[in-house]
Amino acid sequence: MPTLQADTPLQFLKGVGPRMAEHFAANGLHQVGDLLQHFPLRHEIDLGDRPIAEAVPGQIATVRGVITRCGGRGPRYRATLQDSEARCELIWFQRPPGLALRVGQTVAATGKAALRNDLLQLVQPRVRVIADNEFAGPARDARRVGVYGASPPLRPSDIRRAVAQVMALGELPVAEFIPAALRERREVPPRSAAIRTMHEPADDAALAAARRRLAYEEFLLMELAVALRRRSARRSGVGRALLVTVEIDRRIRARLPFSLTPAQDRAVAEIVADLSEDRPMTRLLQGDVGSGKTVVALYACLAAVANRRQAAILAPTELLARQHFANVERYLEGSRVRRRLLRGGLRDSQRRAALRELARGEVDLVLGTQALLEEDVTFRDLALVIVDEQHKFGVLQRAALRTKGPLPHYLVMTATPIPRTLAMTVFGDLDVTTIDAAPPGRGRVTTRVLPPRRCEAELIALAPRLAAGEQAYYVCPQIGELEPPAATSTSAAERPAAIVTAVEAFDRLRSGPWRGLSLGLLHGELEPAERQRVIDAFRRGELAAIVATTVVEVGVDVPNASLMIIENAERFGLSQLHQLRGRIGRGRRDGECLLVVRGYSESCAARLRTLCETSDGFAIAEADLRLRGPGERMGARQHGLPPLRFGDPLADFALLEAARQDAFEIIERDAALVQPAHRGLREALLRQIGDRLNLLDAG
Ligand code: ADP
Ligand code: MG
Repeated sequence: MPTLQADTPLQFLKGVGPRMAEHFAANGLHQVGDLLQHFPLRHEIDLGDRPIAEAVPGQIATVRGVITRCGGRGPRYRATLQDSEARCELIWFQRPPGLALRVGQTVAATGKAALRNDLLQLVQPRVRVIADNEFAGPARDARRVGVYGASPPLRPSDIRRAVAQVMALGELPVAEFIPAALRERREVPPRSAAIRTMHEPADDAALAAARRRLAYEEFLLMELAVALRRRSARRSGVGRALLVTVEIDRRIRARLPFSLTPAQDRAVAEIVADLSEDRPMTRLLQGDVGSGKTVVALYACLAAVANRRQAAILAPTELLARQHFANVERYLEGSRVRRRLLRGGLRDSQRRAALRELARGEVDLVLGTQALLEEDVTFRDLALVIVDEQHKFGVLQRAALRTKGPLPHYLVMTATPIPRTLAMTVFGDLDVTTIDAAPPGRGRVTTRVLPPRRCEAELIALAPRLAAGEQAYYVCPQIGELEPPAATSTSAAERPAAIVTAVEAFDRLRSGPWRGLSLGLLHGELEPAERQRVIDAFRRGELAAIVATTVVEVGVDVPNASLMIIENAERFGLSQLHQLRGRIGRGRRDGECLLVVRGYSESCAARLRTLCETSDGFAIAEADLRLRGPGERMGARQHGLPPLRFGDPLADFALLEAARQDAFEIIERDAALVQPAHRGLREALLRQIGDRLNLLDAG
């Protein structure tokens, strides 16, 4: 056989003709390299061929013998297998397609053994016909056999056979790219050994070591990319320093109606230190909902303005941009800072005028959605960009942002914290500031689950409190009936439950338990102006409650609101429930959050229990990831994590840290990865993540 290379087409394998090659191709398997990366879903233990007499009823047995009789009618098929001492029956109730045995054939059969009328039977066994020229020596020892995922007409056994051919090569066509010194330091096996083990592990320990190697390499490549991004962010630093003098600091603080908390002071100090350097700041400001990030961001903006430069605050939604603007207006009342909200829906002429002001430097502080920077906007002297990502965060968005003109200082705010332990892996190219304590004078929020049958009574009991001035949010998963139900994972065990829509709830509350109270309805299909009107009325206390969809999730800040009822709580993710709950308990009054659960499952119960027990957003984010499990890539993506095949950032955290350290050391010494020991890494990196950001050329 000619030597097989990673790029050898599979058709070169024995037993793979043009037709079979097509079946492989339909499974995404084209070349030997693809096959090597196609790891078994799991392994079954093959005990090796045993004499028929040794088969134990009730257990899986693999026996070998000669077919002495066979045949069947309809879907049934049976055969008699004989070895030198004993015989047994092979029985199929459902004849596998293509199964046709002949008397005289030697076969190995694997199946569960049973004893019937003193005769040993294997029911619905797998059989392998042993070719005449195949070595038919003594029983093989127990070994693990890979079970491969394959979509028909390709069969798992086709893959197993093809893999076996490749494995029979002494040396696999697999290129190592982790330098030997690192492999030694981290005690991971060479790549080819790991890949061989993934297919045919000697034992569990070997399998674990192989996985560890693949996880390490995945983490290492990811962290190399992070290290390169960080480096390029630092190097391209022709920013300009913003100086915060004692006088500027005093003036900014004088604007605020409260003094900063120690956590906020720490955050401000870190930001000020960054701003005072002439390379641009790239910092992440994370803190739970209500921890007071906005004020810190505003401090930075005012520092820019005091230096006679411009600042921009970008929000993910129009609603949030308006909210930020309203807050800024409150703090800046009577100040000379020229600020502007660049909202959607401006007339062309208005918009042009606004853009002209920005270009001429007639606006100091602009607020808008993130579309702001992608459009035709030019600034006279933009010194600071603040991106409020709330809980959506994308690495690439950042890249788009950075290409725009000379580099301003850059601060990202996020309220759905990545678990603290993971922040550095995702935001590893940013410096991280964490606000870890909420401002004082907050009420405590208690959370409990409310069974539907008790719902009416609780709502009636709340009515007098609402009449006396407390305010409530009533949150529903959907606006009205016309909307198709949101896609959720409903397992068979999960009884589909009725969805309570906002429109329904609004009508029911008005005519039932909350009759006579003034209620508002708030959802995403209202005109922005109407939405704002409802929120403003609520803020002024003219509405006792608003019935809303999750539009209230971000940015709505009404300190007096202390009650929240969440309908169909089972339909929301943990982090989302926490965000929602963050709307209450912003004032002095203790808050109460009631979760109405209308469809129950085990996983839902665990989720809600976490929420009732803790109010720490970081712990909740971590629990969210854990509860979703490592297999749930959605969860990872929601948190902005790159997709990983082997590594689990939570479970393999120590390994991740090691990989990060190694990656940063490598980039420190050889940023372009041109040293001979690093060439392989360079290639692997280019292959895997491409060079969208031209990071390697920047070396
Ligand atoms: P975040 O943006 O982190 O969710 P905000 O900045 O919106 O939090 O602050 C939440 C609330 O706390 C706001 O009403 C704000 O006025 C108030 N707040 C912020 N910092 C302080 C402070 N140091 N002392 C008292 N109240 C504060
Ligand atoms: Mg905020």
